[in-house]
Formats: sequence, C-alpha cells, structure tokens
Amino acid sequence: GRLAKFASRRTVLTHSDREAGMEPKTCVVTGASRGIGRGIAERFGEAGCDVAVNYRSSGEAAREVVETIEDAGGSAIAVKADVTEPEQVQAMAEDVEDAFGTVDVLVNNAGINQDVFFEEMTHEQWDTVLDVHLDGAFHCTQTFYDDLAAAADGRLINISSIVAKGGNLGQANYATAKAGIFGFTRTLAQELAREGSTANCVAPGFIETSMVTDLPESIIEQVEEDTPLGRIGDVEEVADIVAFLASERSSFITGEVIDVNGGMDL
Ligand code: NDP
Repeated sequence: GRLAKFASRRTVLTHSDREAGMEPKTCVVTGASRGIGRGIAERFGEAGCDVAVNYRSSGEAAREVVETIEDAGGSAIAVKADVTEPEQVQAMAEDVEDAFGTVDVLVNNAGINQDVFFEEMTHEQWDTVLDVHLDGAFHCTQTFYDDLAAAADGRLINISSIVAKGGNLGQANYATAKAGIFGFTRTLAQELAREGSTANCVAPGFIETSMVTDLPESIIEQVEEDTPLGRIGDVEEVADIVAFLASERSSFITGEVIDVNGGMDL
C-alpha cells in the first residue's frame, strides 16, 4: 500500500549501512513502541545502549522493539507507563533503575494529536493533547532529572514539531504544546548546564509514522509538494540526529532546536 509506495521512491539505508555513532549509555525513550520513538530506541540499541522502551498500551509492539534491540547487541526492557500519570512514571523509573542503574539520556517523545479546527475544539481535546506533551515532559524530566544532572554528560532530548513555529490548521492544541517544548528545552538547558549536562530539541517535519500515514492521501501529496526534498521523512532520519545529540560528539550544543523537515520551512 502507501508505505510500500513511499519506500520505493528512494534508497532507504538499512541498519547495517549506518554506524552507531554513539557510545553505550542508559537511555529512556518515551512512546517507543511505535513510530519515531521506536526508531530512536532501536538506534540506541545498535550503539549497544541499555534502553528502556516506554509505552502506554502497545505492550506487544514494545516487546518486539526489545527483541530487535537485543538482536542488535543492546539490552532493553519494555516499561509500561502513561507519561501523564506521575505514579506510573515513578514506577517506570524504579524498573529502569533495577534493570540498568542510573539514566544518562531521556528522550521525551511520547505524543498524540487530536486535530480539529479551533471553533470546534473542546476543552477536553485541548487538555488531553497538552497533558501528554507538556505534563508528560514535566513528569518524566522531574523523575529522571537527578540522574541527568549527575551523569558525566547527561542528555535531555525533547521531540517538538515543525508546527511549533508555523502553526497548522486544526492543530491549535498540538502546536501550542510543541511550542511549549521549545521554552521548556531552553530553560532546562540553562539549568542542566550547571551540572555539565545538555538539553536539546528535535523538530521533525512530516515523518512516515501512523500519525502521518493515517492522513488523507491528498494532504500527504500536498506536504510532498511543499517540501523541497519532495517527500516525507523516515523515522531513521530523526533517530540519527537524536543519536548524535545523545552522543559525546554534541558536547557543546545545548538549548538548540534542530529541524529535520526536508526544507519544508524554507
Ligand atoms: P506514533 O503515533 O507513531 O507513536 C506514538 C507513541 O507515543 C506510541 O509509542 C504511544 O504508545 C506513545 N504514547 C502516546 N501517548 C502516551 C502516553 N500518554 N504515555 C506514554 N506513551 C504514549 O507517533 P509518532 O512516532 O509519529 O510521534 C512521536 C513524536 O514525534 C510525538 O511527540 C509527535 O508529536 C512527534 N512528531 C511526529 C511527527 C510525524 O510526522 N510523525 C512530526 C513532528 C513531531 P502506545 O503505542 O502504547 O499507544
């Protein structure tokens, strides 16, 4: 179907074509059962990291991610927690500590969208989306803050979106949440800098996950037309920059927003 069509348009690098490019660390990736989070978790696995694969409901998918990571030479556990629930995040942290000790890298990736024009948007739709992105980032970062601060080179990486800057029809809730992530990242960058750790943000454009492939074909065609590189992106193309930001090679970069969007904002 559509996925095959996208894949056939370009050369997709396989895992073995890529160098891991990152030293082994202990990493937590929220929303790692599918999509971009899965790509990031698997990329960390290729680098031999210990990876906590967080999910909310897709337990079976999360366990597949764990197997892929173990096959690639990393170690991993699947950890169920709704990031909007502080007790569940705390329980997840205890599981991670039991399995791997302290955490070096936190990727706040878990996300949802509930798109509707603002005139029709309910307060519940507003709250639900802000909760996952902003309260979720709050709870996870609070819970792992001491670990990130104490790590030799702790890394906080938050996943925002191209729509944080440009806005998007039907996404007042989502764009607001993603713009909030910019301010959050820039503040945490200053606070974590006191401990020698960094915080950065990755802002993807349209990436091939269910969040995008569920859109009507006509919207995807419009996106491809509006993107100078003429296509939507792969999860691996986001995972690569996250792996770089998680590595020692990014040691003098903090408080930045890195766009990965095929030039869509040009
Ligand atoms: P997917 O819908 O493919 O995956 C979402 C992931 O988030 C799933 O693993 C899901 O878990 C998890 N999740 C959702 N809500 C919660 C929660 N409350 N607690 C814990 N986990 C949760 O999304 P994408 O991979 O496309 O998106 C990942 C991130 O990237 C999001 O922050 C998104 O906003 C952002 N992004 C995506 C873009 C795109 O084009 N795809 C573009 C720009 C940004 P489960 O499977 O258990 O439901």
